Amino acid sequence: MTRSFLSHVFRFAPSPNGYLHLGHAYSALVNHEMAQAVGGSLLLRIEDIDIARCRPEFEQAIYEDLHWLGLSWEEPVRRQSEHFDAYAEALARLAQQDLVYPCFCSRGEVANILAEQPDWPRDPDSSPLYPGTCKHLSTSERLSRLAAGQPAALRLDMKAALAQVSARMGQKIGWREYGGGMQGREVTADPVLWGDAVLSRKDIPASYHIAVVVDDALQGVTDVVRGEDLFNATSLHRLLQILLDLPAPCYHHHELLRDAGGRKLSKSLRAKSLRTLRHEGLTPDEVKAQFGLPQRNFAFVP
Ligand code: GLU
Repeated sequence: MTRSFLSHVFRFAPSPNGYLHLGHAYSALVNHEMAQAVGGSLLLRIEDIDIARCRPEFEQAIYEDLHWLGLSWEEPVRRQSEHFDAYAEALARLAQQDLVYPCFCSRGEVANILAEQPDWPRDPDSSPLYPGTCKHLSTSERLSRLAAGQPAALRLDMKAALAQVSARMGQKIGWREYGGGMQGREVTADPVLWGDAVLSRKDIPASYHIAVVVDDALQGVTDVVRGEDLFNATSLHRLLQILLDLPAPCYHHHELLRDAGGRKLSKSLRAKSLRTLRHEGLTPDEVKAQFGLPQRNFAFVP
Protein backbone atom coordinates (compact mmCIF):
# COMPACT_ATOMS: atom_id res chain seq x y z
CA MET A 1 0.00 0.00 0.00
CA THR A 2 1.45 3.39 -0.88
CA ARG A 3 0.15 6.66 0.39
CA SER A 4 0.88 10.22 -0.42
CA PHE A 5 3.16 11.61 2.28
CA LEU A 6 0.87 14.62 2.49
CA SER A 7 -2.05 12.54 3.67
CA HIS A 8 -0.47 11.24 6.88
CA VAL A 9 -2.55 12.02 9.96
CA PHE A 10 -1.18 11.23 13.43
CA ARG A 11 -2.82 11.67 16.80
CA PHE A 12 -1.86 11.87 20.43
CA ALA A 13 -4.74 10.68 22.60
CA PRO A 14 -4.22 11.18 26.35
CA SER A 15 -6.83 10.59 29.05
CA PRO A 16 -7.30 13.50 31.49
CA ASN A 17 -7.46 11.26 34.57
CA GLY A 18 -4.18 12.52 36.00
CA TYR A 19 -1.24 14.71 35.10
CA LEU A 20 0.97 13.73 32.16
CA HIS A 21 4.37 12.22 32.93
CA LEU A 22 7.53 11.79 30.87
CA GLY A 23 6.09 8.72 29.13
CA HIS A 24 3.31 10.87 27.69
CA ALA A 25 5.83 13.52 26.66
CA TYR A 26 7.77 10.84 24.80
CA SER A 27 4.69 9.56 22.97
CA ALA A 28 3.54 13.06 22.04
CA LEU A 29 7.02 14.07 20.83
CA VAL A 30 7.46 10.89 18.78
CA ASN A 31 4.09 11.52 17.11
CA HIS A 32 5.13 15.10 16.43
CA GLU A 33 8.54 14.11 15.02
CA MET A 34 7.01 11.48 12.75
CA ALA A 35 4.32 13.84 11.51
CA GLN A 36 7.01 16.45 10.76
CA ALA A 37 9.22 13.90 9.03
CA VAL A 38 6.52 12.99 6.50
CA GLY A 39 4.84 16.40 6.22
CA GLY A 40 1.76 15.05 7.96
CA SER A 41 -0.54 16.54 10.55
CA LEU A 42 -0.89 15.91 14.27
CA LEU A 43 -4.24 15.79 16.06
CA LEU A 44 -4.89 15.86 19.79
CA ARG A 45 -7.76 13.80 21.14
CA ILE A 46 -8.94 13.94 24.72
CA GLU A 47 -10.00 10.42 25.73
CA ASP A 48 -12.38 11.27 28.55
CA ILE A 49 -15.20 8.74 28.28
CA ASP A 50 -14.56 7.71 31.89
CA ILE A 51 -16.28 10.83 33.11
CA ALA A 52 -16.03 9.82 36.77
CA ARG A 53 -12.20 9.73 36.64
CA CYS A 54 -11.50 12.53 34.16
CA ARG A 55 -11.31 16.10 35.40
CA PRO A 56 -11.24 19.51 33.64
CA GLU A 57 -8.07 20.55 35.48
CA PHE A 58 -6.22 17.52 34.10
CA GLU A 59 -7.42 18.39 30.59
CA GLN A 60 -6.24 21.97 31.06
CA ALA A 61 -2.88 20.67 32.27
CA ILE A 62 -2.55 18.54 29.11
CA TYR A 63 -2.77 21.66 26.93
CA GLU A 64 -0.30 23.50 29.16
CA ASP A 65 2.22 20.65 29.25
CA LEU A 66 2.07 20.05 25.49
CA HIS A 67 2.41 23.76 24.70
CA TRP A 68 5.36 23.90 27.10
CA LEU A 69 6.97 21.07 25.13
CA GLY A 70 6.56 23.25 22.03
CA LEU A 71 3.87 21.12 20.39
CA SER A 72 0.92 22.32 18.37
CA TRP A 73 -1.96 20.44 16.83
CA GLU A 74 -4.91 20.97 14.57
CA GLU A 75 -8.06 22.41 16.08
CA PRO A 76 -10.69 21.56 17.08
CA VAL A 77 -9.54 19.04 19.65
CA ARG A 78 -11.89 16.06 19.72
CA ARG A 79 -13.22 15.36 23.20
CA GLN A 80 -14.67 11.85 23.38
CA SER A 81 -17.25 12.68 26.06
CA GLU A 82 -18.99 14.87 23.45
CA HIS A 83 -19.41 11.98 20.99
CA PHE A 84 -21.26 9.20 22.78
CA ASP A 85 -23.81 9.31 19.95
CA ALA A 86 -21.14 8.24 17.43
CA TYR A 87 -20.15 5.27 19.63
CA ALA A 88 -23.83 4.33 20.12
CA GLU A 89 -24.25 4.33 16.34
CA ALA A 90 -21.31 1.94 15.92
CA LEU A 91 -22.68 -0.33 18.67
CA ALA A 92 -26.08 -0.31 16.95
CA ARG A 93 -24.42 -1.47 13.73
CA LEU A 94 -22.85 -4.38 15.58
CA ALA A 95 -26.20 -5.15 17.25
CA GLN A 96 -27.92 -5.24 13.86
CA GLN A 97 -25.46 -7.93 12.84
CA ASP A 98 -26.13 -9.86 16.11
CA LEU A 99 -22.53 -9.42 17.20
CA VAL A 100 -23.14 -8.01 20.69
CA TYR A 101 -25.22 -9.11 23.65
CA PRO A 102 -26.22 -7.49 26.96
CA CYS A 103 -24.34 -8.68 30.02
CA PHE A 104 -25.92 -8.13 33.43
CA CYS A 105 -23.10 -9.64 35.49
CA SER A 106 -21.27 -7.51 38.02
CA ARG A 107 -17.47 -7.74 38.33
CA GLY A 108 -17.99 -9.49 41.66
CA GLU A 109 -20.24 -12.10 40.06
CA VAL A 110 -17.68 -12.84 37.37
CA ALA A 111 -14.94 -13.02 40.01
CA ASN A 112 -17.03 -15.50 42.03
CA ILE A 113 -17.63 -17.72 39.05
CA LEU A 114 -13.90 -17.80 38.42
CA ALA A 115 -12.74 -17.99 42.04
CA GLU A 116 -12.80 -21.75 41.93
CA GLN A 117 -10.72 -21.87 38.76
CA PRO A 118 -7.42 -20.06 39.38
CA ASP A 119 -6.03 -21.12 36.01
CA TRP A 120 -8.87 -19.50 34.09
CA PRO A 121 -7.43 -17.61 31.08
CA ARG A 122 -7.01 -13.86 31.25
CA ASP A 123 -7.04 -11.16 28.59
CA PRO A 124 -3.96 -8.98 27.86
CA ASP A 125 -5.16 -6.51 30.53
CA SER A 126 -5.17 -9.38 33.06
CA SER A 127 -8.96 -9.48 33.39
CA PRO A 128 -10.42 -12.99 33.39
CA LEU A 129 -11.96 -13.89 30.05
CA TYR A 130 -15.73 -13.69 30.34
CA PRO A 131 -17.20 -17.17 30.88
CA GLY A 132 -20.23 -16.38 28.71
CA THR A 133 -22.91 -16.50 31.41
CA CYS A 134 -25.22 -13.90 29.82
CA LYS A 135 -24.54 -15.09 26.29
CA HIS A 136 -26.78 -18.05 26.99
CA LEU A 137 -29.77 -16.10 28.28
CA SER A 138 -32.93 -16.50 26.22
CA THR A 139 -34.17 -13.51 24.26
CA SER A 140 -37.23 -13.21 26.49
CA GLU A 141 -35.05 -13.25 29.61
CA ARG A 142 -32.86 -10.51 28.15
CA LEU A 143 -35.82 -8.40 27.17
CA SER A 144 -37.54 -8.72 30.51
CA ARG A 145 -34.37 -7.80 32.42
CA LEU A 146 -33.81 -4.79 30.18
CA ALA A 147 -37.48 -3.77 30.50
CA ALA A 148 -37.10 -3.99 34.28
CA GLY A 149 -34.28 -1.47 34.01
CA GLN A 150 -31.48 -3.84 35.01
CA PRO A 151 -28.22 -2.18 33.95
CA ALA A 152 -26.31 -4.04 31.24
CA ALA A 153 -22.92 -3.84 29.60
CA LEU A 154 -22.64 -4.81 25.93
CA ARG A 155 -20.18 -7.53 25.04
CA LEU A 156 -18.84 -8.55 21.67
CA ASP A 157 -19.80 -12.08 20.69
CA MET A 158 -16.25 -13.00 19.68
CA LYS A 159 -17.17 -16.31 18.09
CA ALA A 160 -19.87 -14.74 15.92
CA ALA A 161 -17.59 -11.82 15.05
CA LEU A 162 -14.77 -14.10 13.90
CA ALA A 163 -17.20 -16.24 11.91
CA GLN A 164 -18.46 -13.15 10.16
CA VAL A 165 -14.97 -11.88 9.37
CA SER A 166 -13.84 -15.21 8.00
CA ALA A 167 -17.01 -15.48 5.89
CA ARG A 168 -16.36 -11.97 4.53
CA MET A 169 -12.62 -12.04 4.13
CA GLY A 170 -11.77 -15.74 4.21
CA GLN A 171 -8.37 -15.00 5.64
CA LYS A 172 -6.49 -14.02 8.75
CA ILE A 173 -6.65 -10.40 9.80
CA GLY A 174 -3.65 -8.29 10.66
CA TRP A 175 -2.01 -4.89 10.55
CA ARG A 176 1.11 -3.17 9.31
CA GLU A 177 3.48 -2.56 12.21
CA TYR A 178 6.34 -0.06 12.14
CA GLY A 179 7.42 -0.28 15.80
CA GLY A 180 10.08 -2.58 17.23
CA GLY A 181 12.02 -2.61 13.96
CA MET A 182 9.10 -4.20 12.10
CA GLN A 183 9.36 -1.73 9.18
CA GLY A 184 5.79 -2.21 8.01
CA ARG A 185 5.66 -5.98 8.22
CA GLU A 186 2.24 -7.58 8.60
CA VAL A 187 1.35 -8.71 12.12
CA THR A 188 -1.37 -11.34 12.43
CA ALA A 189 -4.17 -10.16 14.71
CA ASP A 190 -5.27 -12.46 17.50
CA PRO A 191 -8.56 -10.99 18.78
CA VAL A 192 -9.49 -14.22 20.57
CA LEU A 193 -7.10 -13.05 23.30
CA TRP A 194 -9.83 -10.65 24.39
CA GLY A 195 -12.77 -13.07 24.52
CA ASP A 196 -16.22 -11.46 24.67
CA ALA A 197 -14.81 -7.98 25.31
CA VAL A 198 -16.94 -5.23 26.85
CA LEU A 199 -17.77 -2.59 24.23
CA SER A 200 -20.10 -0.53 26.37
CA ARG A 201 -20.04 -0.42 30.16
CA LYS A 202 -22.95 -0.32 32.58
CA ASP A 203 -21.94 3.15 33.76
CA ILE A 204 -20.44 4.49 30.50
CA PRO A 205 -22.15 3.89 27.13
CA ALA A 206 -18.86 3.08 25.33
CA SER A 207 -15.51 1.44 25.99
CA TYR A 208 -12.01 2.55 25.03
CA HIS A 209 -11.93 -0.03 22.24
CA ILE A 210 -15.06 1.10 20.43
CA ALA A 211 -14.34 4.82 20.95
CA VAL A 212 -10.79 4.58 19.62
CA VAL A 213 -11.69 2.80 16.39
CA VAL A 214 -14.64 5.09 15.69
CA ASP A 215 -12.57 8.21 16.35
CA ASP A 216 -9.49 7.11 14.43
CA ALA A 217 -11.74 6.55 11.41
CA LEU A 218 -13.81 9.73 11.82
CA GLN A 219 -10.66 11.80 12.21
CA GLY A 220 -8.97 10.22 9.21
CA VAL A 221 -6.05 8.94 11.28
CA THR A 222 -3.62 7.04 9.04
CA ASP A 223 -0.79 6.39 11.52
CA VAL A 224 -1.46 5.29 15.08
CA VAL A 225 1.69 5.83 17.14
CA ARG A 226 1.28 4.74 20.76
CA GLY A 227 2.94 2.74 23.52
CA GLU A 228 3.67 -0.93 23.18
CA ASP A 229 1.33 -1.63 26.11
CA LEU A 230 -1.46 -1.23 23.53
CA PHE A 231 0.06 -3.64 21.02
CA ASN A 232 -2.36 -6.46 21.89
CA ALA A 233 -5.36 -4.11 21.85
CA THR A 234 -4.68 -3.61 18.16
CA SER A 235 -5.92 -7.16 17.48
CA LEU A 236 -9.32 -6.18 18.82
CA HIS A 237 -9.23 -2.82 17.09
CA ARG A 238 -8.58 -4.43 13.72
CA LEU A 239 -11.49 -6.82 14.24
CA LEU A 240 -13.83 -3.94 15.10
CA GLN A 241 -12.59 -1.91 12.12
CA ILE A 242 -13.43 -4.76 9.79
CA LEU A 243 -16.86 -5.37 11.33
CA LEU A 244 -17.65 -1.65 11.04
CA ASP A 245 -16.14 -1.22 7.55
CA LEU A 246 -13.58 1.28 8.82
CA PRO A 247 -10.19 1.85 7.18
CA ALA A 248 -7.05 0.25 8.63
CA PRO A 249 -4.41 2.69 9.86
CA CYS A 250 -0.72 1.71 10.08
CA TYR A 251 0.54 1.16 13.62
CA HIS A 252 3.76 2.01 15.40
CA HIS A 253 3.93 0.76 18.98
CA HIS A 254 6.86 2.49 20.61
CA GLU A 255 8.84 1.40 23.66
CA LEU A 256 7.71 2.58 27.09
CA LEU A 257 9.71 4.64 29.52
CA ARG A 258 10.45 2.73 32.70
CA ASP A 259 11.44 3.69 36.20
CA ALA A 260 14.62 2.54 37.93
CA GLY A 261 12.81 -0.65 38.98
CA GLY A 262 11.88 -1.45 35.37
CA ARG A 263 8.18 -0.66 35.81
CA LYS A 264 6.52 1.41 33.10
CA LEU A 265 5.86 5.00 34.13
CA SER A 266 2.21 5.30 35.05
CA LYS A 267 -0.18 7.64 36.75
CA SER A 268 -1.28 4.89 39.12
CA LEU A 269 2.32 4.29 40.25
CA ARG A 270 2.62 8.04 40.78
CA ALA A 271 5.30 8.77 38.21
CA LYS A 272 6.49 12.35 38.66
CA SER A 273 4.33 14.63 36.54
CA LEU A 274 5.68 16.88 33.80
CA ARG A 275 4.19 19.76 35.72
CA THR A 276 6.22 18.95 38.80
CA LEU A 277 9.38 18.44 36.74
CA ARG A 278 8.73 21.78 35.08
CA HIS A 279 8.35 23.49 38.44
CA GLU A 280 11.58 21.85 39.52
CA GLY A 281 13.29 23.59 36.61
CA LEU A 282 13.43 20.93 33.87
CA THR A 283 13.40 22.50 30.41
CA PRO A 284 11.72 21.18 27.22
CA ASP A 285 15.16 20.90 25.61
CA GLU A 286 16.32 18.68 28.46
CA VAL A 287 13.26 16.47 28.02
CA LYS A 288 13.94 16.14 24.28
CA ALA A 289 17.63 15.51 24.82
CA GLN A 290 16.75 12.74 27.24
CA PHE A 291 14.81 11.06 24.39
CA GLY A 292 17.57 11.63 21.85
CA LEU A 293 15.55 14.35 20.09
CA PRO A 294 15.73 16.16 17.77
CA GLN A 295 18.86 14.43 16.44
CA ARG A 296 17.12 11.09 16.28
CA ASN A 297 15.84 10.45 12.82
CA PHE A 298 12.25 9.33 12.62
CA ALA A 299 11.99 9.70 8.87
CA PHE A 300 12.12 5.93 8.42
CA VAL A 301 8.60 5.45 9.74
CA PRO A 302 6.06 4.78 7.86
N1 GLU B 1 -5.97 7.15 25.92
C1 GLU B 1 -4.94 6.16 25.92
C2 GLU B 1 -3.94 6.47 27.02
O1 GLU B 1 -3.94 7.56 27.56
C3 GLU B 1 -4.20 6.09 24.59
C4 GLU B 1 -5.00 5.36 23.60
C5 GLU B 1 -4.41 5.23 22.19
O2 GLU B 1 -3.42 5.89 21.87
O3 GLU B 1 -5.00 4.48 21.42
O4 GLU B 1 -3.17 5.61 27.36
